Amino acid sequence: EDIAVVTKSTSRSKHLGGLLAVDSDDKHCVSKHESFLIRRRSHHRKPSTYLQERLRSYESLHRQCSPHTDSYNKSMTHWLVKSNPSGSSPPQSDCRYLVWISYSGLGNRMLSLTSAFLYALLTNRVLLIDRRGGVEMDELFCNPFPQGSPSWILPPDFALSQQELDRLGKHSPSGYGNMVKRNKVENNGYIYVHLSHDYDEKDKLFFCDKDQAFLQRIPLMVLRSNNYFAPSMFLIESYEEELTKLFPEKDTVFHHLGRYLFHPSNTAWGLITRYYQAYLAMADERIGIQIRVFDDETGPFEYVIDQILSCTSNNKLLPDVSLNKSSPPSKPKPKSKALLLTSLSSGYFERLRNRYWEHPTINGDVISVHQPSQEEHQKTDSHSHNMKAWAEMYLLSLTDVLVTSSWSTFGYVAQGLGGLTPWILTKSENRTVPVPACVQATSMEPCFHAPPFYNCKTGAGIDTGTLVPHVKHCEDMTWGLKLV
Ligand code: GDP
Repeated sequence: EDIAVVTKSTSRSKHLGGLLAVDSDDKHCVSKHESFLIRRRSHHRKPSTYLQERLRSYESLHRQCSPHTDSYNKSMTHWLVKSNPSGSSPPQSDCRYLVWISYSGLGNRMLSLTSAFLYALLTNRVLLIDRRGGVEMDELFCNPFPQGSPSWILPPDFALSQQELDRLGKHSPSGYGNMVKRNKVENNGYIYVHLSHDYDEKDKLFFCDKDQAFLQRIPLMVLRSNNYFAPSMFLIESYEEELTKLFPEKDTVFHHLGRYLFHPSNTAWGLITRYYQAYLAMADERIGIQIRVFDDETGPFEYVIDQILSCTSNNKLLPDVSLNKSSPPSKPKPKSKALLLTSLSSGYFERLRNRYWEHPTINGDVISVHQPSQEEHQKTDSHSHNMKAWAEMYLLSLTDVLVTSSWSTFGYVAQGLGGLTPWILTKSENRTVPVPACVQATSMEPCFHAPPFYNCKTGAGIDTGTLVPHVKHCEDMTWGLKLV
């Protein structure tokens, strides 16, 4: 579809089926108005009415408690007085906060931020983002809340400085797990929660009802995580009922919350729409292939090419080519397929493009091959690099068929935003082509790479992937958990 020719649409599709407030027309954020023009419809995946209501009430809580409101100022005084025991009795505020520390690759960040937002919704906290990460978030994304809403970025005069936030980690004395270890769990008005891949058994108590009951009472929680921890929240009994109301279809958590939170900034939207219109819009079908090879060497590797060809051929995602001289008769009206490839390396792109240039396809389909960027290396601290990464995740989400790489959060974001159950390239051992080359995911949800395996009631180990039908082990990581 050409954006220019689609001029009319219903208000519902424009507001993403009710995810966005109807009166939220945001003049500063073009993607909020235009995304529905190029995004595949999500008819069968409507957000529940209850989720819509809760988002609207979150938006008003956010307004009411945002930095420098009376309630916020009261909370600030509360923490300051609490941390200085000689002070007088602190004033109380109704607002409680969750501060999310931004770190790690962009895909990881988007997944952990979404989990944090879900937690904020469940616990009626206001979610704020640390400033360092926030500056970049502002460049990549619009403010998700309706026009005129206050920002979700921490103000510079916040009670904890950026340096103090940066220092918070696994060994921080204010960390909940460390408090448990010291047997000194107390409500000082503020607590740090460590939910990163390297967290330990005591940090994992976060996922227990008893500990949640305590944590809920603390006005300010600071969180560091690089994980999509939403699946394990579905195993906390006290949140079960609310989560079922929010998500009657449990495999849509990231799909809905991700589309609610992540609207490309105008700069990112320019990258996305120019590329889409120039290379992808005209095709009859779009197929995305996301190549992410976790190897010390950069490649390209022959086995990866073989694996992609085996996956796309066995599952009829791309046509085979005829290698003998006599080419098959061309069709009067051939079907066009645009193949969008993303990878840090350019080698795979060249191989695939040449394959479809040098040989005819056996069914006459015409295949064009495109790769927006070849950045060679991961550069997590470069803004322009992350801008391209974001544009590419979004472009992948606009495809009709998606092939992703095992273990990659970059691919998870694309599949979740696009509402796609991807074909996942099996993780290779010893640089050989695995059999099968790929498997289709059971749901579009991301995988939680570091879930707890702990029975909160007995204190013993337990396989948390077998407790309820909607939380299962992931296809690409046997010990991971995902919603299905
Ligand atoms: P993950 O490591 O695959 O889980 O994904 P992350 O997004 O968390 O971190 C990988 C980072 O490497 C991305 O954010 C990008 O900065 C970069 N990267 C990896 N693959 C690609 C790619 O195909 N295109 C671009 N532009 N960047 C990539």
